[in-house]
Amino acid sequence: MVLTENGHQCSDQASSGLLDAQLDLYWNTFAVIKSMAFKSALDLRIADAIHHHGGAATVADIATTVSLHPSKIPCLRRLMRVLTVSGIFSVSGEENVYELTPASRLLVGSKNLAAIMSMILHPTLVVPFLGVGDWFRRETAADGDKTCIFKQAHGESLWELADRDAAFDALINDGMVSDSRFIMDVVVREHGEELFGGVGSLLDLAGGLGAAAQAISKGFPEVRCSVMDLGHVVAKAPRGTNVEYVAGDMFESVPLADAIFLKWVLHDWGDEDCVKILKNCKKAIPPRDAGGKVIIMDIVVGAGPSDQKHREVQALFDMYIMFVNGIERDEQEWKKVFMEAGFSGYKIMPVLGFRSIIEVYP
Ligand code: SAH
Repeated sequence: MVLTENGHQCSDQASSGLLDAQLDLYWNTFAVIKSMAFKSALDLRIADAIHHHGGAATVADIATTVSLHPSKIPCLRRLMRVLTVSGIFSVSGEENVYELTPASRLLVGSKNLAAIMSMILHPTLVVPFLGVGDWFRRETAADGDKTCIFKQAHGESLWELADRDAAFDALINDGMVSDSRFIMDVVVREHGEELFGGVGSLLDLAGGLGAAAQAISKGFPEVRCSVMDLGHVVAKAPRGTNVEYVAGDMFESVPLADAIFLKWVLHDWGDEDCVKILKNCKKAIPPRDAGGKVIIMDIVVGAGPSDQKHREVQALFDMYIMFVNGIERDEQEWKKVFMEAGFSGYKIMPVLGFRSIIEVYP
């Protein structure tokens, strides 16, 4: 290093740049610790414990409610510090009283998101991501590499495992139900008239246990709602609702309906499979002037609010869904799939935070 009159200052700047860069590496690497801290809050049901204490609780209160061994109280304090830094809880007062934030308020009550977050953070779904580097090195076979990141880790596809393992199936279905109950409340309240008004019959295709169809049926009792999903899912569907359940394979055929609803389905599949599904949908709905349409709820990358957090979640979701060979599409990518499936037009409504609603017309 050459020492100049202001050499000292230059070297300080260089060092601080290095230290900032080092910080960035740790910040990215420890994102996994942030997730695991959140996972332990879900496992221990800390949000429920705070809620149980009227929305404000000390570490001792939480420890008692979640039945921790008293020897772990100092560690719980450290966990709570992480969860406070990451915005899951807030803290105030000399005694460190923890409260729910808008985020953790979504972990308690009847329409909570705890099940979908627990699903994403379950070991069966986390472990495959440790093999992403290896997966990138594998050659994609000429016929399209069907070995997704999930299958590389577990030797079978997610849908095969769900068919075989009732506990895993319940993890997936309950996760989906929790997301549907939450988001469909917003959809029915804010956009229901536009989407479902005047629709005679609606099919929730690959609708899981049918929470979305139930929400639509409750808000719009005049719409005849049905759900189609794989046999092992339909077998667990609730009985005695206004919603009819049909077992089947959407790649084979799709039952007739005025409107077909596809929530969190097409992002699981590559373009070729999406075109097959959408072609089957087109056969099942009436022409555009008779009200036929497909309603999609998925991410449109680049649509919606353009702040850093929305953009980051969209990019992360796209990388995430790669684990089943899925993809989050931008507008041009969606358009290509719609046109190839023979549809004439579409309308994107970027109204669900990081997700959008898309109406597609035959
Ligand atoms: N739409 C629901 C579930 C999304 S998860 C929701 O958003 O809550 C994807 C769903 O696709 C699962 O329920 C899965 O069982 C279903 N699925 C997968 N392959 C299918 C196929 N070939 N035919 C019909 N449904 C299928």
